[in-house]
Amino acid sequence: MSRVLVTGGAGFIGSHLCDAYLARGNDVVVLDDLSSGNERNLAAALQTARCELVVGDVRDEVLVQSLVERCDLVFHLAGRIGLMLVVQSALRTLATNVEGTNVVLRQAAKYQRKTLVASTSEVYGLSKEFPSREDGAIVIGSPEKNRWSYACSKAVDEFTALAYHREEGLPAVAVRLFNTVGPRQSARYGMVIPRFVSQALRGEPLTVYGDGTQTRCFCSVGEVVAALTKLVEHPGAVGKVVNIGNPEEVRIIDLAHRVIAATNSQSTVRFVSFDEAYEANFEEIMRRVPDIGRARELIGFSPHYDLDAILREIIAEQSEMSAQGTSAPR
Ligand code: UDP
Repeated sequence: MSRVLVTGGAGFIGSHLCDAYLARGNDVVVLDDLSSGNERNLAAALQTARCELVVGDVRDEVLVQSLVERCDLVFHLAGRIGLMLVVQSALRTLATNVEGTNVVLRQAAKYQRKTLVASTSEVYGLSKEFPSREDGAIVIGSPEKNRWSYACSKAVDEFTALAYHREEGLPAVAVRLFNTVGPRQSARYGMVIPRFVSQALRGEPLTVYGDGTQTRCFCSVGEVVAALTKLVEHPGAVGKVVNIGNPEEVRIIDLAHRVIAATNSQSTVRFVSFDEAYEANFEEIMRRVPDIGRARELIGFSPHYDLDAILREIIAEQSEMSAQGTSAPR
């Protein structure tokens, strides 16, 4: 049974991926600097003798080499997440995403370990082709606007993965994750669904950024993780970029009202300008929707878990946490 290395494995998606591999009987090694990940996410995993947590930086090449060498499969999920963190520290975002990914890929190529690099729908940037296809153009905004450092650094990650594939024979796939949601996602880094649910359960106003007409699509983390495990095994995914997301599109203002209804909350909606929410001159992506044809063809990807089911799950999680007095950080 193979041993799986998950960088960023103490994070939201990474920890679910670890659980999935442990359930299949694999051993799992996690490399995480715990900057946004949290050991609590791995509480159940670490109780098995088959999960090992190594606290360290993906830019530490000696450490990465030793871990890649003793694993059979690499999932590279470590990276700066959430636009809040990105706009606060673009230098750190660029360093972790660009240098860190290069270190992981260089070592994976050296030992020829199959590697899945997590990228993001953010790379589509300001493209106006909808739904977004992997072979379409990406349109990244001006470097004078901090947010684009994230899209740009993740696009470099994709180019790097595919270049290692072409030039050094690394079996690599880059996956563009659209908005993903589920248990363990912290509201702390700005993610909209845990934030709205937390605000609604406390009876506070839901902070809708801009006028709320921007759209997003939300996919359940369970379906995302299942897709990642299938993609990494599929020979047809090697050397490709693949979108993973749920094409069900919702306007953020409508999402706010659905959360208020689903929680029976007395909360109202408070509109907050993007400049106030993030930083001056912030440029928002007004629409984001995936074309999932490629993932469907490769692995039969067809997400069924809809937004109502996702909301029910997050509401149940947060209600339970507040009943236990361990409510999620806002
Ligand atoms: N958003 C919002 N209020 C919040 C947090 C986020 O209106 O309190 C909006 C944000 O402007 C974006 C969408 O919700 O349009 C999704 O934000 P998130 O940070 O979850 O992910 P993003 O798509 O920006 O990566």
